Amino acid sequence: MTTTHSLINQMIQLQELIVASMQKKVSMPTAKLDELQKSISALGADLPQQVKSHFNRLLQKHPEAIVPVANGLCSGCGMALTKSLVNSVHKADGMYKCPNCARFLYYPEQLVERERTSRVYGEVRKVGISRYTSPELMMHLKGGTGEEVLRELCGRMADEAFVDDANLLLDLSLQREAIVSTAVDNGLAFPHVRGVEGGGLSMAVGVSKKGVRFGGPGRTLSRIFFFMVIPTATSAFYLKLISGLSRTFRDSDARDMLLNTSNEEDLWKALIKATRKTFK
Ligand SMILES: [Zn+2]
Repeated sequence: MTTTHSLINQMIQLQELIVASMQKKVSMPTAKLDELQKSISALGADLPQQVKSHFNRLLQKHPEAIVPVANGLCSGCGMALTKSLVNSVHKADGMYKCPNCARFLYYPEQLVERERTSRVYGEVRKVGISRYTSPELMMHLKGGTGEEVLRELCGRMADEAFVDDANLLLDLSLQREAIVSTAVDNGLAFPHVRGVEGGGLSMAVGVSKKGVRFGGPGRTLSRIFFFMVIPTATSAFYLKLISGLSRTFRDSDARDMLLNTSNEEDLWKALIKATRKTFK
């Protein structure tokens, strides 16, 4: 049983590294990907042979080869799974695959408020960046360390009922940072938690005028944090969103628009204005 759990964790880690290298390609045009590539090879070499070859075959077709079960469905292809398969995946007494798309399945931690789904899709005519975020998720961060900043962002997500459990969200986002930092050039960072169950993609935006050491390239401090909770069903948007945001905020004027605000209401207005051309 423990073996299956650690195998699942290893596969999720590997997948995160692969997605991180895709993310670095879209957000850092000059990124050196050697280190990341090395970690991917090292972690991949360690998988049992049978799992490894199936995993690699899947990755040729989809960016995700291991996906969570969500409300009894395979969150990769949307196929309804039998109760007994869902139970087996939950028990984790072996590796199980979706009978339709053949992706590996795992049972996610319950994180996202279910009612959020109806709330998001019940609201009509959201345009631009407000499809992914909202005024109550704008923050002027006070923390001086990466963990403090993440704690603030997770706390806000939970206070505003975008997720159930701030501590679980914090744990998952710290685990993700431990795999490879989400900090990129220009003082931007894209911390996130992927593969959660239900809801839509939600993003909190935090700015830190003094900057935080967040594992960015060289000695760069991170000042603008785009913190995302990404259900698997929405993971196709996620790279597009990151790519659009890093393109927009490569421009220092756009960054200053956010950093020079003095309250959260103005931060919201500045975000809308800065991203107007990127997200229509
Ligand atoms: Zn499937």
